[in-house]
Amino acid sequence: MLKSGNFYYTNQQIKENSMNITSKLKHTIQEAAGNRCGYCLSHQRYTMSKLEIEHIFPKSNGGTDTEENLWLSCGLCNRYKGTKTTGFDDETQNFVPLYNPRQQVWTEHFTWSSDETEIIGLTAIGRATVKALKLNNEIAVEVRRNWIIAGWHPPKF
Ligand SMILES: [Zn+2]
Repeated sequence: MLKSGNFYYTNQQIKENSMNITSKLKHTIQEAAGNRCGYCLSHQRYTMSKLEIEHIFPKSNGGTDTEENLWLSCGLCNRYKGTKTTGFDDETQNFVPLYNPRQQVWTEHFTWSSDETEIIGLTAIGRATVKALKLNNEIAVEVRRNWIIAGWHPPKF
């Protein structure tokens, strides 16, 4: 129970209040993101679970529910991202901000490996994001391998 003014909220109400994102705003974000995960670029049509509205800056770090802080993410990237805002780049040995799919351009920070199953970071931000979000996790690479066979991958911009 949380007291706010003269009201007490139940845990369920707190949960609902934390999702102040209208369906109209969700739709706007889905459109802006091209219905793809902002990180691994998985398209909704090839993903079994619904792509999620994610907070670029996590709410626990003061991120808001406003449009400029929201983007689309697959469940896997969203879980691995968690509340992270930075990642470690092995090449420069620095912590750097994670890739921001709303403000930055994917192709400036990432490219596909020659067999197109893995995402290669081109910049410190790209490399740190690949590592932090495990963009080349075993499942993702295997799924991409099959998407290639099906002619669904890599995505065309
Ligand atoms: Zn993803």
